[in-house]
Amino acid sequence: MQQDSIGNVHHFWERMKEVCEGDRIFHYVRGEIVAISVVKSGYREEPRPAEIPLLGSEHAKGYLVEVDYYELEKPLTIADSFNEIQPLLPIKYSPFQDNANGNQGYLYPCNEELTIKLIELIADLNIYEIDEEQLEFVMGTVQKTEHDFLTPLLAETETEAKTKVRLGHQRFRNELSPLWHNQCALCEIDLPELLQASYAKPWKDSTTNERNDPNNGILLCRNHDALYHNGFIAFDGQGKIHISSSILIEDYEKYGLHGKMKVNRTETSKPYLKWHKKHVFKE
Ligand SMILES: [Zn+2]
Repeated sequence: MQQDSIGNVHHFWERMKEVCEGDRIFHYVRGEIVAISVVKSGYREEPRPAEIPLLGSEHAKGYLVEVDYYELEKPLTIADSFNEIQPLLPIKYSPFQDNANGNQGYLYPCNEELTIKLIELIADLNIYEIDEEQLEFVMGTVQKTEHDFLTPLLAETETEAKTKVRLGHQRFRNELSPLWHNQCALCEIDLPELLQASYAKPWKDSTTNERNDPNNGILLCRNHDALYHNGFIAFDGQGKIHISSSILIEDYEKYGLHGKMKVNRTETSKPYLKWHKKHVFKE
């Protein structure tokens, strides 16, 4: 994700090298996503453009990435939809602060779940379901032409992200389920339709390796998955359950919980369970 700031922090520079052909970039300026671009080729080194003055210790060379840039007719104001965006932000390298303002820097990685949400919000603002002829009549042909590229770009970006998430989850579940004997680790429900492969370190925060690691999670029924996913329960390094104080002790039974529950954690799943307890659990 790009931002119009002046901070030339080293790791942002390095991230320029990771950009690949076909990547999408959301362009963020002063509280709004104003454009989407599609990367045409990987980076190359170029001298700094003359119109950008060189400051003290900065290098005269930079990285250049060529993109096709599509300005949105209606920019997306982040603060307006922040309650929907915030749960999808990673804890590390988030493009936005807790008050919905942007963090300084540019080219923030955007996880697929966040991508899907941003596309959905942008599409709501910029794509109208009204009759094409009526649109042409009212707004003229210029804007119709603009929609001709924006609509497929949004659709393709959304489909790619959704496919990646779906296939990733599917593989994760297939590999994780047998580790838990194909039943809920807490209540032993074994009806496949009711079971969920629950990430300990969530997708948005995980690296590609962590997303594919079947040790990064627990097989749980829908009820226990929802409790775990939303941080109402967690497991420590010993696999012992911790229950959030927002669930009253007298209600434990209703939720299918009791204080002595334990999961069979392994040495490899331990760091993931601890990460979840530290960052997701609502004490
Ligand atoms: Zn259960």
